[in-house]
Order: sequence, then C-alpha cells, then structure tokens
Amino acid sequence: MRQFSGVVRLVYNLALEQRRDWWRQYAVRTGKSLTYVAQARELTELRRSFDWIAAVSQTSQQQALRDLDRAYANFFAGRSGYPTPRRRGVNDGFRFHGRECRIRRLNRNWGAIHLPKIGEVRFRWTRDVLGDVKNVTVSRDPLGWHVSIACEVESEAPEKRAAEAVGIDRGVAHTLAFSDGTFADLPLERLRVLDRRARKQARSLARCRRGSKRREKAKARLARTKAKTARVRKHWVHERSAGLARRYGTVVTEDLKVANMTASARGTVEAPGTHVRQKAGLNRSILEQGWYQFETCLRYKLEAAGGVLIKVPAAYTSQTCSECGSISKTHRKSQAVFLCSDCGHSAHADTNAARNILRAGTRPSGRAPVAGPTTRESRQNALAAA
Ligand SMILES: [Zn+2]
Repeated sequence: MRQFSGVVRLVYNLALEQRRDWWRQYAVRTGKSLTYVAQARELTELRRSFDWIAAVSQTSQQQALRDLDRAYANFFAGRSGYPTPRRRGVNDGFRFHGRECRIRRLNRNWGAIHLPKIGEVRFRWTRDVLGDVKNVTVSRDPLGWHVSIACEVESEAPEKRAAEAVGIDRGVAHTLAFSDGTFADLPLERLRVLDRRARKQARSLARCRRGSKRREKAKARLARTKAKTARVRKHWVHERSAGLARRYGTVVTEDLKVANMTASARGTVEAPGTHVRQKAGLNRSILEQGWYQFETCLRYKLEAAGGVLIKVPAAYTSQTCSECGSISKTHRKSQAVFLCSDCGHSAHADTNAARNILRAGTRPSGRAPVAGPTTRESRQNALAAA
C-alpha cells in the first residue's frame, strides 16, 4: 500500500508539473489544451514505458488525475489556492472504483475488502455498508491505514420537523451550554493527558539532532499523539451533533466570527482564579479548533433528519438578561453566575446566553439581533464591553 500511494503521488505530482510548466508547449505541440482526458491518455503511455508504474492500479492513478482536475477547477473558480504537490507522509492514499472492490464481513468486528493488485485486506468493521458502493479510499495517517467506503444511498427527503428548538452557547466554563440548562463537555481529562504528552514529546523532539533516526522516531511519536487528540475530539463532535440532530428540529448557534469577538470581551468581564482561567483557555482553544467541524457535522446531520441550523449574531448574548431583556455588563457577576440587576433573574451565565441565542434565532422576524440596549447607561456599558 505504501508503494501504491508512492506511485499514485508521483503520477499526481508529474501531472501537476505538466499542467503548471508545460501546458503552453503542449498546446503548441498538439493544438489542444491539457485536460483530464489528455493526461489520462499520457498516463497510458507512461504505464507502457515503466513496469513499476504499471504495477499499480490504473484507476487509482486516473483518480489522482481527476483529483488534480478538480483542484484546478476549484482554483479557477476562486474556491481554493493553486494546487500544490502531494507530499510523502502527508497525502498518503489512493482511491478505487467501488465496482473493483469486493467487501465481505468476517465477523462482528472485522471485514475484508479485496483491492485490485493488492489483494484482500482485513479492516475493522465500524458501520454497515449500505447502498451502492461508489468508491473506496485507502489513506494513511500517523495511527495507521484506513479505508473509507463511499456509498450512494436512496433516501426520501426527510419531513420538515417543527420539533423542539435549542440554543447553544460555546461556554467558557463548559464546552457547550444549552438553553434548557444542560451542558456538554469534551472529555477534558483525556485531552489534558494527551496535551501534556504532546508537549513533552515536542520538547524531546527539539532536543534531537536534525536528520537523525531518533528525530524521525520522536516526530512519529508526536504525530501519533496529535492524531489521537484529533480523534478524541472528532468522536465527541460526531456523537454530540448526532444526539442534537435526533432530538431537535431547530438548533440555533452563534455566528462564528462575531462569537470570537464576544469571547475576548467576555474575558474582560470576568475575574476568575488562575486555575479556572487555564481551564477556560484550554477548553476554548480545544473547541475553537473543533467548532467548525462541530457546526459542519451538526448542519448535515440536522438536514438529513429534516431539521435546520440557524446562526445568529452573537452581540450582547452574554450581557442580556434572558428574562427581561435588560443589557448590562454588570449582570454577569462572574464566569458562571448571571444575575440581572433589573429583575433579579439568576442563572448560569452560559445558560442565560444560550437562551438569548435561542430567542434570537426563533423570533418571528427571523435573524434579527438580540434587542439593542434600552437605556443610555446600558448602551454605553454594552459598547464598552464590545
Ligand atoms: Zn432581567
């Protein structure tokens, strides 16, 4: 498989070089432009001249050319940057057509897949393969080889659900705070252990001599720890977003860009102890890395279940009283405590914010922001906080 991904990468990089540096010469020589079809034809010639290139499945090489074609299309459409070469250790992988691969289940935990020119490979069976297998991607990360099987599944358009709605605040004390007063936390203990390990490994990596064997090993160790961290987070993200999509028809969250600003403003409001601060910092940094992932997961899972994700501007959500609507930064007594000095309503500060987010997303007028400051004084307070 390593040989496979090496050759496929070479084909990709050669094709990239050809498109980048030789397209003009090609156009002059043949009178045609350098497209996927043209490169696929050149690939056939390349395979005839080199046995070791022919030793690797042609479809996976063609798939690489398709990827490149798409990368260029994305670049010209302004969706992404100029295509870059694939690198060893970073882009290890290849893809087959689904019809080339045979999949069978061996027992509860294991399956086997027959890959062209590689043979049968056992894999950990994590979910059932439903529908028509379109393609099979084999990839490698620091934790090992993975296979992902993309299937086409017929599904009815889900019924629109007017079910319960929930607001979510990205809390400081908790990873997520919901408008119903509950919280969800990343497995922080586990992440902290992994974080400590990664720091230690990064230090020992820095002590290794450049180009040495030890350095290679230290690098691999650190990469494994980071991949584990990412996996813990990803698992949590999928689990949580699936739970929300099952339970709610409407989920309201803060708009990310604005949320970042309030997060820093929130830092000036609070005066917490060092430990809390540290915890909040880690919590936030971990979630910030995972927030986009969480939102993406939540959106598609909700859509599949007939629900909807609504994003609202986050201004004042942490300073507004969810009972009476009064806005002042003095309402937030500490990191966790919200106490309205107008009506006396008290709640966990993150829950209060989540309620405001829910209201902003479900008010009849749609996406209107949370009610503006009511008095001159509170307007000034709000502006000072922003
Ligand atoms: Zn109030």
